Amino acid sequence: MVSTIDRKSELIHALEDIGCRVTGPRVEIIQEISTLEGSFTAEDINTRLPALGRATIFRTIKLLQDTQKLCKTVLFDGTVRYSLDTGFHHHHLICVKCGDIKEMRSMELERVLRVAAKKIPDQVVGHSLEIYRICSNCS
Ligand SMILES: [Zn+2]
Ligand SMILES: [Zn+2]
Ligand SMILES: [Zn+2]
Repeated sequence: MVSTIDRKSELIHALEDIGCRVTGPRVEIIQEISTLEGSFTAEDINTRLPALGRATIFRTIKLLQDTQKLCKTVLFDGTVRYSLDTGFHHHHLICVKCGDIKEMRSMELERVLRVAAKKIPDQVVGHSLEIYRICSNCS
């Protein structure tokens, strides 16, 4: 289990690594993201930090996505949710009721996708696949 402090410094360092200035508001946003369990929306951050402008929140989230520390997931209804990225290739299990997002890693799935990719005549450079479900809390 990664502690909040580790997560926070990891995100701050990631921003510095891409040449970003880590301003006070950005640290506040990172602090909130680090303490949140599971996935969140930009609105969640906005509710927790009403003093910061929406633009600042969206910009910071975008930057964190650029560092590949944050995954962006789109729900069926178009809601965008974010979750921390562990850095390993993975897919998402998304609850269509509450928006809970879990990481899924499956050798079996990757094998099937590799086989499928061989039948595609063009050069395959990656894939994206989300699995929508109803989580145990919602069913
Ligand atoms: Zn992810
Ligand atoms: Zn759920
Ligand atoms: Zn995959």
